[in-house]
Amino acid sequence: MKPTILVLGGGIGGISTARELSRKIGNEDGINLARILVFEKEKSSLYAPSLTWMMVGKREEKQVYGDLSDVELGGIEVIHGEIQSIDPENRAVISNGTEYRGDYIVISLGTKLTDIYNLSRYGHNFYTPAGASSFYEDLQQFEGGEIAVVVSSLPHKSPVAPYEAALLIDDFIREKEIRHKTGITLYTPETGPMDFASEEISGKVRRLMEEKEIHYKPEHTLITAEKNSLTFSRPGNKNVKAAFDLLAFTPKHTAPDLIREAGLTGTSGWVEVDEQTLQTTHDNVFAIGDIISLPVGDGKTLPKAGVFAQYQADTVAHNIARMLRGKQPNKMFEPKGSYILDQGDKASKVDGDFNAEELKIKTSSMIRHWEKVLTEKAWFLKNF
Ligand SMILES: Cc1cc2nc3c(=O)[nH]c(=O)nc-3n(C[C@H](O)[C@H](O)[C@H](O)COP(=O)(O)OP(=O)(O)OC[C@H]3O[C@@H](n4cnc5c(N)ncnc54)[C@H](O)[C@@H]3O)c2cc1C
Repeated sequence: MKPTILVLGGGIGGISTARELSRKIGNEDGINLARILVFEKEKSSLYAPSLTWMMVGKREEKQVYGDLSDVELGGIEVIHGEIQSIDPENRAVISNGTEYRGDYIVISLGTKLTDIYNLSRYGHNFYTPAGASSFYEDLQQFEGGEIAVVVSSLPHKSPVAPYEAALLIDDFIREKEIRHKTGITLYTPETGPMDFASEEISGKVRRLMEEKEIHYKPEHTLITAEKNSLTFSRPGNKNVKAAFDLLAFTPKHTAPDLIREAGLTGTSGWVEVDEQTLQTTHDNVFAIGDIISLPVGDGKTLPKAGVFAQYQADTVAHNIARMLRGKQPNKMFEPKGSYILDQGDKASKVDGDFNAEELKIKTSSMIRHWEKVLTEKAWFLKNF
C-alpha cells in the first residue's frame, strides 16, 4: 500500500501543502510514490488576500478562486465535501459518510467566521467574496456620507486587511471626486494598528491613515449595531455611538466546531502545536495556518496570514517527505516573512522576523504595490 497523506482544507495552507508534498516526495504523472488526498467543502479554492481589491471593483468574483480540478496532478486527489469528524488518534477523517485513514494528517481548515450583532443586516462582511462584492455594489452608488470599517472582534486573520480596506476605499472615493463630502472611519478594539507590531510600525500606519484623513478609532469594542448606528464600549466603561451610511466589517473568528469536537484545541481556543515542527499532540498529525495559535515574543501571537500558512506548509511537507524516506525531520518553522499593505497605487511592506525586534516597515512605493499583484499572480500560476 502506498503511504497516504490526508490534507484537510483546500485553501492557502492546504493547497501549498499538497503541491509541496507532491514535488518533494517525487511524485510525477504516472509515478505516484504516495497518495495525497485534499479534503475541501467548497467547489473552488479561495485566495482571500484579493478580497480587499474586490471591495473596490479591482477584482471580480471569478478572479479570486482557483479551480480545484487543476490541482489533481502528481498523486493529488481532491475529495469534495464537508469533513464531518476527525479522529486524530487513528489518523482518520469522515467525509461524505466515508472514512479515510492516512499515515499523516495535515490540518489547514482555517477559521469559522460568524457575523455578530446582526451586522450582516446593516453592512457587508468583506471577509467573504459575497460581502466584498455587495460592498462594491453599494460603494458604486455612494454619493457621500459616512463609511465605517469595523473590526467586530479579535483575533482576526490578516492584521492589515481592515487598514488596507480603509485605504483602498479612500483611494476609490478620491477617484470618484467625492472625498470632500465623505468621512471614512476605522473602529477596532486594538490599542493600535496591528497589535503584534512594534510602536514604530504601529505609528507609521497611524500616520498613513492621518495623511489620508481616515479617522482611526482604536480601543472601540463593538457592543450593538442598528440601522445606520453602532455602539462601542470604551475603556472606563464609557459607551459611544457612531453613525454610518455604508458599513464594511470583519466577522468573529473561531476554530471550526469539528476541531474542538476532535479535542484538538488548547487553552487558546486554537490548535496548539510544536512551534518548530507544527506537530499537534498526536504523532504525525500536523496543523498549520489560521487554525493554530503560535506564540511569538512578548506574549504576542503570530498573525494569521497566508504568508505564514505557506511557510508552514513548506516545513511540514519537507519533513513528511523525509520521514517517508525513513529520515528524521530537519526543517523547523521560523516566523519570518513579509506582509504588504496596499493603498491603491502604492503599498508599504512589513518585513522580518516576527519573533524579534528587527521587524521593519518599508515605506510606500509603487513597486511594493506591484509586488502584491505579482504575489497574487504567482499563487494562481503555481497552483492552478
Ligand atoms: C480580506 C482578507 C485579506 C487578506 N490579506 C492577506 C494578505 O495580504 N497577505 C496574507 O498573507 N494573508 C492575507 N489574508 C489571510 C489569508 O487569507 C489566510 O491567512 C490564509 O487563507 C490561511 O490559510 P489556511 O489554509 O489556514 O485557511 P483557508 O485559506 O481559509 O483555508 C481553509 C479551507 O478549509 C476549508 N474547510 C473548512 N472547514 C471544512 C470542512 N469541515 N470540510 C472541508 N473543508 C473545510 C475551507 O472551505 C477553506 O477552503 C487575508 C484574509 C482576508 C480575509
